[in-house]
Amino acid sequence: MPTIRKLPEVLINQIAAGEVVERPASVLKELLENSLDAGSKAIEVQLTQGGIKQLRITDDGCGIDKEDLALALERHATSKIASLEDLEAVGTMGFRGEALAAISSVARTKITSRARGASHAWKVSERDHEPMPAALNGGTVVEVEDLYYNTPARRKFMKSDSTEYGHCDDAFRRVALARPEVGFQLSHNGRVNLRLAPGDAERRAREILGDDFMEQARVVDVAASGLRLFGFASLPAYARSNRDGQYFYVNGRFVRDKIIQHALREAYADILHGNRHPAYALFLELDPAGVDVNVHPAKTEVRFREGRAIHQFVFHALTRTLAAPVQAAVAAPVV
Ligand code: ADP
Ligand code: MG
Repeated sequence: MPTIRKLPEVLINQIAAGEVVERPASVLKELLENSLDAGSKAIEVQLTQGGIKQLRITDDGCGIDKEDLALALERHATSKIASLEDLEAVGTMGFRGEALAAISSVARTKITSRARGASHAWKVSERDHEPMPAALNGGTVVEVEDLYYNTPARRKFMKSDSTEYGHCDDAFRRVALARPEVGFQLSHNGRVNLRLAPGDAERRAREILGDDFMEQARVVDVAASGLRLFGFASLPAYARSNRDGQYFYVNGRFVRDKIIQHALREAYADILHGNRHPAYALFLELDPAGVDVNVHPAKTEVRFREGRAIHQFVFHALTRTLAAPVQAAVAAPVV
């Protein structure tokens, strides 16, 4: 007869890591979201060998005090929610208290942080959750090295450095596009590849999607019955042969959602044909109670309470904007 036994904590975290930590890019997404939740205004990302060898994220956020730092790597430890009501109205990117526990179970992980007002910084690692004194002017530095060093079966699924870097670049752009007020920098193997100064939504969209897109995009800004859709969507003259330029956010979170994708396809159905795809950076905002973001640990899936109403709203907002006779294209850049 098989015997039932409780799994050790590390193994539980490693199993959970299968869902949260698919590849370096998923680590990067979680760390960027943590930095944003900490109120950072400048975030620097340094990757080595596609992020497989090292991901290092430096932020100027609120930091973590000594007592919290001891818990940061524990599973189900979060500063972001405390009750079901909090979960239903969650305004932060994170809330599951899982990412750091999962990441540190499959990679060498160090966190150095200095809380505001603290006389110095503290540091913990995957091996030692007891904080040790460290030096740092402020904010937090998270270093994740040798992803999947202890789980070879998972390591095999990682692709070449350049493929993994490509995924990291995607993850970085998705986060950066939604937070134009925050400055970001991305470097790879010691070279700075992308530097984004804090600015407004238009400037950030231009940096991420390019001048060509902005010259042939319309400003979307439609609000009705508690819903708002704003951002930029390409006119038919601009189309891509792939879906790379498609960014859709729900309450600041990048999502891939069937209802939304269908509404967008329908909105473009009469004006784009064949293998041509629109590009867009669109932000849907609604009451957090109207959308469940706790569908999957990676949180790129959501469930809408009123899917039909959302579909109609997105479809109409877009068709109306794209069909408007007056060219509301974005102004040319000032050079
Ligand atoms: P979650 O984000 O779901 O709360 P995480 O495992 O990602 O869970 O992080 C655990 C906790 O560690 C967070 O709730 C937060 O208090 C703290 N934390 C993580 N990263 C940072 C950071 N860059 N700055 C400040 N606090 C952080
Ligand atoms: Mg988090």
